[in-house]
Amino acid sequence: MTKEKPSTLVMKFGGTSVGTAEAMAQAVANIRASQADWENVVVVTSALSGVTNLLVESTTRAVRGDEVFISQTESELVKKHFEIAEKLIKSPAQQAQVKQEIKHLSADFANLCRAIRVLGEATPRAMDAVVSLGERLSVRLLAAALQAAGAPSQFIETTHLIVTDDDFQSAHPDLEKTKANIKTIIKPLLAQGQIPVLTGFIGATEDGITTTLGRGGSDYSAAIIGATLPADEVWIWTDVTGVMTADPRIVPTARTIPEVSYREMAELSYFGAKVLHPKAVRPVVELGIPVRICNTFAPEEKGTYVLADKDGRTAKEGNEKTEDPQNASNQIVKAVTAIKHQSVITVEGRGMLGVPGVAARTFGAVAATGTSVPLITQASSEQSISFSVPHEAVETVLESLHHAFTEELEQRDIDRIWASDEVAIITAVGNGLQQTPGVAGKIFSALGAANLNVYAIAQGSSAVAISLIVASEGAQKAVQTLHHFIAS
Ligand code: ASP
Ligand code: MG
Repeated sequence: MTKEKPSTLVMKFGGTSVGTAEAMAQAVANIRASQADWENVVVVTSALSGVTNLLVESTTRAVRGDEVFISQTESELVKKHFEIAEKLIKSPAQQAQVKQEIKHLSADFANLCRAIRVLGEATPRAMDAVVSLGERLSVRLLAAALQAAGAPSQFIETTHLIVTDDDFQSAHPDLEKTKANIKTIIKPLLAQGQIPVLTGFIGATEDGITTTLGRGGSDYSAAIIGATLPADEVWIWTDVTGVMTADPRIVPTARTIPEVSYREMAELSYFGAKVLHPKAVRPVVELGIPVRICNTFAPEEKGTYVLADKDGRTAKEGNEKTEDPQNASNQIVKAVTAIKHQSVITVEGRGMLGVPGVAARTFGAVAATGTSVPLITQASSEQSISFSVPHEAVETVLESLHHAFTEELEQRDIDRIWASDEVAIITAVGNGLQQTPGVAGKIFSALGAANLNVYAIAQGSSAVAISLIVASEGAQKAVQTLHHFIAS
């Protein structure tokens, strides 16, 4: 694809990357360093770590009538942000200015929460007005800290930039309208050599009512900005060095994966690696814009690049080094994850054979309990369906299923519905896992050799993952065993 303007980098900093004066100073240093290599740098920031949670909790407590917590939180917000302002903004005039804004926004917070307390309810719209304050506070600090470090910068509240629908708390962006705002607001700043510093997480409706993009939404903001500029790369600065081959607490030799495809990323995050929500970065990855996940506190490390898939969902070709046949055998497995505290529920009965609708009703009954199902298998005999649910949901799900199939159970079309002991889902992720003959066999042999019993497998739905279920006690060993398949 052609880029309107070469050399534009979007950098997003998560809460822990700006949560203390030391962290924010490091973030500022990383931004300054990137200016050497990039013509334009646009920064997106989260709220300071812990702040959004505090804001959410305040609204919940306000609804219950808690007045004290509102005042406490107001002071806490002032203190947290003042501390950083005092350390990073040296000019007395500028520091005073930022402090005044912090005081002002914190007072807004208290007023909003008091109104919520009086009303005894917090509408989604009111919630967004409150929780958006975290980013509105942090963005001022970061822009001022950058200025104090000698980089011309300007903070911008993305209520003026990202246009969304009015689905408060998880609003959807209108990319076309946002693009128009980028042209009139961001491009002129870049042309002047400024670094725009934008609030993550928030947008506004066309009428200017503040919305948020959902918890953790700053990554999404960065992707929206990256897609609409468009940027050449989007870097997500966090407190870990990209995506690891496994949890290093389980596998001490685990290491950072240099590149993952979008789909691998999706599987990894679905099966327990919580670095980045794949949906959040979709707008940029779809345009072929690489996303780099990197560590604020180890900026010299390359981290992980998330690249487009090579098939229909991509824009850019040639990203998938993994599909190079020379490399394929080495890189079939890229990462291994474990989700613990699961149980397998099985619906079984000879009367289910060939009866349409059993699966639909089964999952309907599960969905009615608000439980999500990470893994499903059905033997081809159609005499049983097994799926996993979080262990703590077992009772509720079983009850719902018994209720849904009362008749079938009475008539013995379904013989029983039962749950296993606590188990873990182990997932191996890698492009080409399923196209490569013999992988599943090797995996099972290795697990067998390690004396691990596999209760169920699921391999169908995703081309890039194989999941298997083992007893909880075997989870650690299973991850370690499969990690041997990752080429060193
Ligand atoms: N501050 C928001 C949250 O904690 C958004 C973000 O950090 O991505 O959910
Ligand atoms: Mg975050």
